[in-house]
Amino acid sequence: MSLTQNEIVGVLKVATAYDGRQRGEADVAAWLDSAARAGWTYPEALEAVKDHFAFDGSWIGPAVVTKRIQARRDAAERARLAELCAAKRAELESGDADHTADPDRVRSVVEAVADRLGWQRKPKRTHAALAVACPHCQAAPGRPCARVIRRGHRAGEFVPLSTVHDSRVGAFQNGDR
Ligand SMILES: [Zn+2]
Repeated sequence: MSLTQNEIVGVLKVATAYDGRQRGEADVAAWLDSAARAGWTYPEALEAVKDHFAFDGSWIGPAVVTKRIQARRDAAERARLAELCAAKRAELESGDADHTADPDRVRSVVEAVADRLGWQRKPKRTHAALAVACPHCQAAPGRPCARVIRRGHRAGEFVPLSTVHDSRVGAFQNGDR
């Protein structure tokens, strides 16, 4: 969902308030098209125009807005990652962490990052695989796959995974039930 025509008019009025340059229908049409192509949102576009005149102030076109929106999105993503890394580091430094790099642990860390960034999760077919036992971690039918903590005071504990092992999906697809 991109900006409406009224929103584009609103954005252009803000620009006109700064530079006094009148904009007409051709500008509205061109900016509407750019907004759709580049996936702007209304609040982002307003912020980008205000930022432009606060920090730059030269002639403004749609590409300037797109670049500022992308820079803001990148900065927000870097901030989220930095926050996640800081949390992971704190966990490691607390001595409470499982330091092993086995595939299940790597998978759970990647899942945490994916959740934080709002990425699409694995396809639903993995959930159907819960119907069969897991050949990898021996989870019983209906039980989630799990990884075993290998070190630290929680060694030997099972931690449920939100995904299933690939070999379990394979077993399910092979009708092994
Ligand atoms: Zn498993």
